[in-house]
Amino acid sequence: TPGTKFPTLGGCIAADVHGKNHHAEGSIAAFVESLDMVLADGSTVRCSRNECDDLFWATLGGMGLTGFIYAATLRLKKVPSAYIRQRAIKTANWAETCRVCTETQHEYTYSVAWIDGLQTGRKLGRGHVLLGEHADAREPKGKQPFAIHGEGRWAVPFFLPSGVLNAKSLKVFNALYYHRQVRRVADALVHYDPYFYPLDAVRGWNRLYGRRGFLQYQIAVPYADGAEVIADLLGRIARQGVASPLAVLKTFGPPSEGLLSFPIAGYTLALDIPLRDSGTIPFLRELNKTIVEAKGRVYLAKDAILEREDFAAMYPQLRQFKAVKRKYDPECRFRSCLSDRLGIT
Ligand SMILES: Cc1cc2nc3c(=O)[nH]c(=O)nc-3n(C[C@H](O)[C@H](O)[C@H](O)COP(=O)(O)OP(=O)(O)OC[C@H]3O[C@@H](n4cnc5c(N)ncnc54)[C@H](O)[C@@H]3O)c2cc1C
Repeated sequence: TPGTKFPTLGGCIAADVHGKNHHAEGSIAAFVESLDMVLADGSTVRCSRNECDDLFWATLGGMGLTGFIYAATLRLKKVPSAYIRQRAIKTANWAETCRVCTETQHEYTYSVAWIDGLQTGRKLGRGHVLLGEHADAREPKGKQPFAIHGEGRWAVPFFLPSGVLNAKSLKVFNALYYHRQVRRVADALVHYDPYFYPLDAVRGWNRLYGRRGFLQYQIAVPYADGAEVIADLLGRIARQGVASPLAVLKTFGPPSEGLLSFPIAGYTLALDIPLRDSGTIPFLRELNKTIVEAKGRVYLAKDAILEREDFAAMYPQLRQFKAVKRKYDPECRFRSCLSDRLGIT
């Protein structure tokens, strides 16, 4: 499940979304048995690993460009309760964050790290690694073991003036957040809602960025030299003053067969970058060049600025995807701003 509970199932399949369990269980593709689709000519078709598998693997991660998914058969996972046994490990720097994330991969189904993206030098990459496992029904004592989530508790009723979230204010916020956990390791039983969907607690959280808004920027890089590449990225972002209050690190396991699926075995870093001046987008495009060199990629579901040639270098199965698209949508009826910008359509 992605980091918000509001997306539709169609949107999740079209982006082949990943959760905090990708290192252990893969993306949503691993749970999809079949898809029922309306194609560009109005006909309907069922695709799966056994029938029309070319369409199936082009649709998982295909950003809606192969047809309209109107039904999906999923294999669900039985969980023993609505609660997660969480272990939070406070890390002092990037090396420790990476070490904790990789060393605990085989012990925990869920793993995600919040990174203080504003630190440089020896504190660069410090944060909290949140590991999780489903709790048994008996563990949430005095609580309904399958209690479902309620409404978000807080709301941002209006756009904050742009600039309130600046490097200084965010540094203070991040320091308070980092130090709120005193011990290095803290165990807790938490409901699935705050564990999986912390941002959903604040309705309209995007307004915190003001009317100019922000860009979500998520990249994945292979394990080989991924830790060094991301450390370099975090340093450049902090020095550029492109403060990202929200920096999230996860680890990916093997990729799915989705032709345009994002996850590759390695680290993934997701950032929210406030759009403050005209230098931000060119700066991020420079970072994309580094990602290409590192054989990494940018997540299409969050992208608004990727350039054609970088996209083609990041997604080596693009040619196969285009061939499947031509087969099922020869007149290119399914298209988007993203597909036009990236030269898919
Ligand atoms: C706070 C936040 C946290 C997030 N965390 C994660 C995360 O942890 N992991 C992750 O992988 N993603 C994450 N995302 C991204 C999100 O999961 C994807 O963008 C997802 O695709 C959104 O789904 P949607 O229903 O809103 O689709 P939309 O944004 O409406 O559409 C997304 C794409 O899906 C296509 N699509 C939608 N419905 C259909 C359909 N029925 N048939 C065919 N195509 C369709 C659209 O054409 C479009 O290309 C996060 C997003 C937010 C805002």
